[in-house]
Amino acid sequence: MSGLGIMNEKVRKVIELSGEDFYACYQCGRCTSGCPAAPFMDIMPNQITKYLQLGMVDELLESNAIWVCFSCYNCVTWCPKGVDIGKLTEALRLLRLRENIDYVKIEELQPEVVGELPPIALVGGFRKLTA
Ligand code: SF4
Ligand code: SF4
Repeated sequence: MSGLGIMNEKVRKVIELSGEDFYACYQCGRCTSGCPAAPFMDIMPNQITKYLQLGMVDELLESNAIWVCFSCYNCVTWCPKGVDIGKLTEALRLLRLRENIDYVKIEELQPEVVGELPPIALVGGFRKLTA
């Protein structure tokens, strides 16, 4: 890790969970231009790295971007610095889930929908909402 930027406990946790060096990002924007989910995100992929560099993890935990990312890894193939934003969003989702806050709430689903869905779709939906 380059050590630039603002480090706090949550930033350290994202680094530990993802193994990614988001400090290497220099905001070229290629990840966002190649991301199929970007039109649905409230924080763009290149902004995710900037937020992390600035220590703004709470803002990311509140965003829909970490749930909309479907880990297609287009961004890492476009990134000249090899930053894998799919791993960052996965780490952020884990932090969020460890707070016991689910994006999909079973009590808000229609019973007939729950009955028709395969269990794996429900489990996947609780863990990650895809675009
Ligand atoms: S892994 Fe996520 S951020 Fe990266 S291109 Fe795919 S959807 Fe976008
Ligand atoms: S492609 Fe890589 S270096 Fe460029 S903005 Fe995205 S994460 Fe940063």
